[in-house]
Amino acid sequence: MFRADDYVKVENLGEAYELCQKRSSLVVGGMVWMKMTNITKRTIVDLSGLGLDRIEETADGFSIGCMCTLRQLEKHEGLNSYFNGIFKECTKGIVGVQMRNCATVGGSIYSRFGFSDILTCMMALDTYVELYHEGRIPLTEFAARPVRRDGKDILVRIVIKKDGRRAAYASQRNSKTDFPLIACCVSRLGSRWFVAIGARPAKARLVCITEDDFDTLPRMAKEAADSFTYGSNIRGSGEYRRTLAAVYTRRLMESLTGRSVSRS
Ligand SMILES: Cc1cc2nc3c(=O)[nH]c(=O)nc-3n(C[C@H](O)[C@H](O)[C@H](O)COP(=O)(O)OP(=O)(O)OC[C@H]3O[C@@H](n4cnc5c(N)ncnc54)[C@H](O)[C@@H]3O)c2cc1C
Repeated sequence: MFRADDYVKVENLGEAYELCQKRSSLVVGGMVWMKMTNITKRTIVDLSGLGLDRIEETADGFSIGCMCTLRQLEKHEGLNSYFNGIFKECTKGIVGVQMRNCATVGGSIYSRFGFSDILTCMMALDTYVELYHEGRIPLTEFAARPVRRDGKDILVRIVIKKDGRRAAYASQRNSKTDFPLIACCVSRLGSRWFVAIGARPAKARLVCITEDDFDTLPRMAKEAADSFTYGSNIRGSGEYRRTLAAVYTRRLMESLTGRSVSRS
């Protein structure tokens, strides 16, 4: 069970950052994940009073506060209409509505879980992470870093640019509400394709390929899927994951080109 002696609802990010520099303190999101751990902390830092629970849309993109819930991503009309419903698609399999009303975007991205649908989905878009101390960096760069106990920055918001990408998302689970066996998000900008694959079971990574280099779409999908490594765990073997990744990547590419999606 997760334990903490003190709880501080901070009044600004500076206060939160200062508190978090102590090893015994921890900033929390919805605490859905934390409560499953055996961690003990002196102080937990709550950002819920800072207005970071909003998704704001501008002409250039979307700004998603770290305290937004997964349910907000799932239901947001602007995000889902601009990105072809991928936020609804990537959240709908995560446990249940009550859980998605609590788990936060900040907790999801900061944790960089291997199984993360959210990380996989956002990675195929032009996404940036805004950290209080370090400032704005691309999500791909943030995701590539290991999660360190002494990494004490605060994820303030996620910024997704409206760069004209069209995107599609798919995941496969052995049973409803389980962690995904594979998670794929594909986006297209002109002749460039961005393929993010997570739950390999390692955390999501991104490859970018150009369609001019391939004669057929299935070859392009296979090449993209083959550029990742896949491992085995209780949910499935690495070889099974590789096969699934190639099939889903192709289907998502087909859906983005408007071709009928073949089931093979
Ligand atoms: C049973 C279960 C099943 C799940 N299944 C899935 C699934 O299938 N797919 C999927 O994508 N996800 C899944 N998740 C993960 C979930 O979607 C969230 O990612 C997870 O709960 C973390 O969000 P949280 O708000 O609970 O974070 P918390 O538990 O509050 O925090 C998690 C970590 O993030 C850090 N943190 C939180 N907010 C910030 C911030 N703003 N800045 C810096 N650090 C921060 C905390 O210090 C902590 O280390 C599952 C979780 C559970 C408990």
